[in-house]
Parts: sequence; structure tokens; C-alpha cells
Amino acid sequence: MKILANDGIDASGKNALEAAGHQVLTSPIAQSELPAFINAEGIEGLLVRSATTVRVDLIDQCPNLKFVGRGGVGIDNIDAVYAREKGIVVFNTPASSSASVAELVMSMMFASARFIYTAGKEMPNQGHEHFASLKKSFSKGVELRGKNLTIIGFGRIGQSLASYALGCGMNVVGVDRSGDSFKNVTVVLNGQTVEVKVPLVGLDMALAQADYISLHVPKQANGAAVLGKDEMKNLKKGVVLINTSRGGVIEEDALIEMLDSGQVGVACLDVFVNEPTPRKDLLNHPKVIATPHIGASTAEAQERIGLEIAENVAEIVSKQA
Ligand code: NAD
Repeated sequence: MKILANDGIDASGKNALEAAGHQVLTSPIAQSELPAFINAEGIEGLLVRSATTVRVDLIDQCPNLKFVGRGGVGIDNIDAVYAREKGIVVFNTPASSSASVAELVMSMMFASARFIYTAGKEMPNQGHEHFASLKKSFSKGVELRGKNLTIIGFGRIGQSLASYALGCGMNVVGVDRSGDSFKNVTVVLNGQTVEVKVPLVGLDMALAQADYISLHVPKQANGAAVLGKDEMKNLKKGVVLINTSRGGVIEEDALIEMLDSGQVGVACLDVFVNEPTPRKDLLNHPKVIATPHIGASTAEAQERIGLEIAENVAEIVSKQA
């Protein structure tokens, strides 16, 4: 098959696909030129990450597409139901990036606990002359050990995060739609595995007691927020909110209001409404730690994603044979 990996693909996946006899093109094509390129080049497989969208019009214009693969978890950039109706296989790589997203969240919690992000921005400009005053500004750090972490959305990433946080001595509760009352989380400590029962509790209770809240839910129906103004009013003052799931699951206007009032101490955000042009007032807010949607962007995750893509394509080919 001729496959276009329009948002790139790790060498692991490209090599595996080529070893299976496929041709993989990796030069990105502009969204508006995609249908013409796909048809002119005889592309049968389209691989995307989050940048390229695969909407109804593209699907209609490319009748020879056999599959669309998403390197990553959320497939909200693909009209998957419509594509499947048209006989196109749509797949993603759900498990490959969980640990990388969880580690980003851990780094955000540590960064906020010890002002690493803010100090890192100010030290190059002011550290030489104002060392003592910066030291004073950033001297009220806290430890993560013993703090309460609420994880909203206790699926693959939520559970992976729980294993890291438990390893650091945090008290973890989850909130999930599953209806379960607890989940056994496996923590690996020095090669030994320990099963820890993590309670799944109601949202109100989990919000009220949390020092840190991290969201790991999919994009909600109609883009609805999981944390809006009403929910945020009941948070512990100074709580740290973290969103590495999807823009919009925390309502951004309400978040700015809560940051201004001090109800929310710090917001750590990897995802935004209106990506790739998130609002500037949020990015510039002094209590926001921001990264540009890099949750899955580690060498290890990309390698696993590449291999998972190649396995999916092999399965598609074998079913067609
Ligand atoms: P998952 O399907 O394994 O888990 C999601 C969980 O959320 C499920 O258990 C579901 O029951 C629960 N849920 C859904 N809506 C809920 C709600 N309103 N309240 C409580 N629980 C709810 O998914 P995952 O693999 O853990 O991924 C989670 C999110 O992370 C997805 O949105 C995905 O797009 C995002 N993600 C982001 C990055 C990044 O680069 N920042 C990378 C990978 C995944």
C-alpha cells in the first residue's frame, strides 16, 4: 500500500511498514491540498496525529482510502463514524502514550510545587542581580508526599498517573463514569509489583479534598466542560489544576476567574480550546504553566506508537487478503 504519514511517524513504524512492503510518504501536505494529493498519488492509507483533520468532505473526496490511522488516543480530529460507514477502517494507538502523559503530569506537579517553571523563566533575566529576592519569592515550596491527588477519568492514563503518584507517596482517589467503587493499580517499585486499591468516589467529594486535580477524560459530548464555574467554586483554595486531556474539559473563562481570585493556585495546561491558536490571556497568565500539547511526545511513546500503527496495518492487510 501507499501510505501518507501526514503528521510524521517514528522510524520504528516507518521501518516496520516498509519491511512489510508498504511505501510510506512523510512530507506533510497542507490540509487544503490533501484530497488532490491523496487521489493523484494513489494513497490508500492515511496516518495522522492531531494536526491533520479527516472530515466528511475529505472522506467523500477520497473514495480509494482504505484506512485512517491516528497515532495517539483521541480521534476527535477524524469523522470516524462517517468514515467507517464508507468502509474505511479507522484505528488509533490507545495504550502507547499513557506513561508519557502521566510523566508530564508528574513533572507539572513538581514544577508547580517548587516554582521550577516560573523560576526558570526569571533566573536568566534577573538571577544575576536579584538572586536574593528571587530566592525569597520561590522559597515557599511544598512536597508532593502526603498531598491529595484527585484523578478525573480513571482509564489508561489516569491509572498510569496513579501508579507514579502512589510511588511518590501521594494519596490518590479517582473519579470515573465506570460506576466501579475502586480500581486496583499496579505500582512497580524496584522491579517488584505492588497492587494498590484506589477508591473511585463522587466528583463533589473528590474535588473538595484535593490539593492536585488532574483530568484524563476524553473530549465530552458537545465539547462540554467537566470543570466549570460551579464545580471550581467548591475547590480547596490554592488547588493545582492540571489538564493534559483535551481543551475545553476545564472551562477557560471560569479558570481565569478562579486563578485571579486565588481559588485555583496554579493551572498546568498541555491542551487548549482553539488549538493551535490558544488564547493569549491564558498563556500569559502568571499562574499558568503551559506546554504545547506534548503529552505523548517522548521518544519511547513515539516508538511504541509507530510499532502499534504497523501492527494495525498488518491486521488490515491480513483481513483484506
Ligand atoms: P481512556 O478511555 O482509557 O480513559 C478515559 C476515562 O475517562 C474512562 O475510564 C471514562 O469512563 C472516563 N470518563 C469519561 N468522561 C468522564 C467524566 N465526565 N467524568 C469522569 N470520568 C469520565 O482514555 P486515556 O487513554 O486515559 O486518555 C484520556 C485522555 O487523554 C483523552 O482525552 C486523550 O485524548 C488524552 N490524551 C492526551 C495526550 C496529550 O498529548 N496531552 C496524549 C494522549 C491522550
